Amino acid sequence: MPIQTLNALKKKFSSLSAQPAEAPITFAHSNPSFEIIALGARSGVLDGNMSSYMIRPLGTNEAVLCDAGTLGNGLKRAEKKHILNDIPVDLDPSLTRAGLVLHQTIRAYLISHAHLDHVAGLVLSSPDDTAKPIYAFPQTREILSEHLFNNRVWGNMGNQGAEPHIGKYHYKDMTPGQTERITHTQLDITAWPLAHGNTTSTAFLIKHNDHAVLYMGDTEANTEEGKAHLNTVWQAIAPLVKEGKLKAIIMEATYPDGRADNALFGHMRPKDLLQALRDLGHECGGRHYIRGLQVLVTHVKETFESNTDNTRKIYHNLQDGNDIGIHFIMAEQSARYLV
Ligand SMILES: [Zn+2]
Ligand SMILES: [Zn+2]
Repeated sequence: MPIQTLNALKKKFSSLSAQPAEAPITFAHSNPSFEIIALGARSGVLDGNMSSYMIRPLGTNEAVLCDAGTLGNGLKRAEKKHILNDIPVDLDPSLTRAGLVLHQTIRAYLISHAHLDHVAGLVLSSPDDTAKPIYAFPQTREILSEHLFNNRVWGNMGNQGAEPHIGKYHYKDMTPGQTERITHTQLDITAWPLAHGNTTSTAFLIKHNDHAVLYMGDTEANTEEGKAHLNTVWQAIAPLVKEGKLKAIIMEATYPDGRADNALFGHMRPKDLLQALRDLGHECGGRHYIRGLQVLVTHVKETFESNTDNTRKIYHNLQDGNDIGIHFIMAEQSARYLV
């Protein structure tokens, strides 16, 4: 190649990389309905990167946040990586884009359960937040209002519990299987309980027009209760799966397959996740219905152990056992998925 051409190419590429980047996409479906931004994607010791998924129907400025283990840090990191550039916020010079997304775009919190790795970001960003509803089951709402927003652990940002209330957050109780329209949005949500050790967790279906995303909070699959709850969810969503209207499932695999049965603490391994998805296929009336289904894998445990890359191990475990053609994607912080 003549040196001039090479230099011209180099110049072209360096000028391209110097431009304000278009929002990078980690994964894009051919005909997407939703944008999912992972504000946080792990569990364990990696504070600053805990479960938190912003789900927004494309073309709208309306999103829900599924869990909020990380919030401010996730938004700031996403802004730095230009991940928030496509969201049609109303510009206001007094706020960063991360702040605008928090104030304008995130319309509600859907909290699966009150473990700290799912609510820490909500608590820490609450003084800088705007008024919003928190959708949860009554069990979760009670823990939040009695043990977190209680004027002792943190100011009472809620509208229930210890006086005085600041009342910024309005608790909205969910009933299993009952659909609610989120205030001031076109989004409908339905919740089902999940078994998770000593507490109740939640699966949320987020629906816009005809299409949906399913967010599953932490769950176990190795107990009778765990299986029964999962099957109730699968029964409810099977029609959407069969019609190709379920665009993605966000679901946990916390430990690699080597983890002992008695050390799961209400979580799943890749083999448990695969079995649960086979059960979904069965519920749909055939595995072909779930072939190509996009499953965003969340909540991988980060530890201090040397030579442990749980994300890589879990990904390999999932690929090795994937006899059902699921499209597994390991969720990464500040990544954007168009589904
Ligand atoms: Zn948990
Ligand atoms: Zn968790």
